[in-house]
Amino acid sequence: MTRHVVVLPGDGIGVEVTQAAITVLKSVAQQFGVTVETEEHLAGGASIDECGLPITDEALQACKKADAVFLGAVGGPKWDDFPKDQRPEIALLRLRKELGLYTNLRPVTVFEPLLEASSLKPEVIRGTDILIVRELTGGLYFGVPKYCKQVGSEEVAVDTMQYSTSEIDRIARVAFEAAALRRGKVTSVDKANILATSQLWRKTVSSVSQDFSGIEIEHMLVDNCAMQIVRNPKQFDVILTENTFGDILSDEASMLTGSLGMLPSASLGTRGGLYEPVHGTAPDIAGKNLANPLAAIGSVALMLRYTFKMVEAAQAIEAAIQSVLDDGLRSADIAANGGNVLGTDAMAREVLSRARRTCATSQRPTNIPAA
Ligand code: NAD
Repeated sequence: MTRHVVVLPGDGIGVEVTQAAITVLKSVAQQFGVTVETEEHLAGGASIDECGLPITDEALQACKKADAVFLGAVGGPKWDDFPKDQRPEIALLRLRKELGLYTNLRPVTVFEPLLEASSLKPEVIRGTDILIVRELTGGLYFGVPKYCKQVGSEEVAVDTMQYSTSEIDRIARVAFEAAALRRGKVTSVDKANILATSQLWRKTVSSVSQDFSGIEIEHMLVDNCAMQIVRNPKQFDVILTENTFGDILSDEASMLTGSLGMLPSASLGTRGGLYEPVHGTAPDIAGKNLANPLAAIGSVALMLRYTFKMVEAAQAIEAAIQSVLDDGLRSADIAANGGNVLGTDAMAREVLSRARRTCATSQRPTNIPAA
């Protein structure tokens, strides 16, 4: 059995963590009887430099044909002053839109050995396990009109926040279905006291909740949610929210885990999926073998789980990450109290050797998906 993955390393540490994650993906998938073939394309600043575009049509076509796509990260100071329609981030927005990736899943798991790496008190964050379900192709980032123009003596800028019932309905169902496999609670986050889009959001989510009678639903205003995430994060199971709120809340939630370098993500649509660490290109540490590869490696575990339906293989990687942390191995960003500090390559090797051991002890590859 062969799976085809398009790899977009991108820029900065994106390149370093991608190499680590793809090595783990190929090796673990092979242990479970699946060969992962990869095809690499440029994206972001690297693509601008080489091809004059954040992403080429050829790369987009390859992504559309692939079983899944892995992206490192894009951007950096070199391209910060480029016009907004030619910036590296356009690669991401085009990928999301053209692949129809309307769901972004961001698990936020606090690992016991990393309690001290967070800026929050251990007793507040211990046991936190949240899944953020963010709508990814609507709202402010895509709504039109969108412009900045001269009006009289000053510039005026407009963004448009727009949602339809069908867009809200489909993402709400993802959240309820995810909650059914977890602790059975959805917190839907909006700004329904002010925004018309949020009033439609709340009405639609309430209506969808009727189809999931076993799942608890609560509605929370986004400002309160931002506060509750740092006050009492354990109250959350699944957080369901729109594009902009999800972008901000998921970065806030990342700090519960101690580092952006710990957070994987999956973006899903009707088929395939785009998998990427939540962090950016970290220009301050790029090229120094200092990047934490665990978010990227966690992202390939999500690929195995959600696109390839190889749950045991995903679990082998997740268990290996836990084991690396339990053994006190740390990249520099999570080495709050010292420990054994390793570079990107060495951390990845440690995860891989542990995942291989888990694979070797599991009885046989029972989770190979149907063709
Ligand atoms: P960033 O995530 O790149 O870095 C923020 C801080 O976290 C830095 O101090 C960095 O060193 C640290 N950090 C991030 N990931 C790390 C890792 N894996 N290991 C260790 N430390 C890590 O965010 P930023 O500095 O705001 O953005 C830098 C560039 O990345 C910008 O050009 C931005 O547009 C881009 N960016 C891209 C994406 C993406 O491609 N998905 C996401 C966010 C930012």
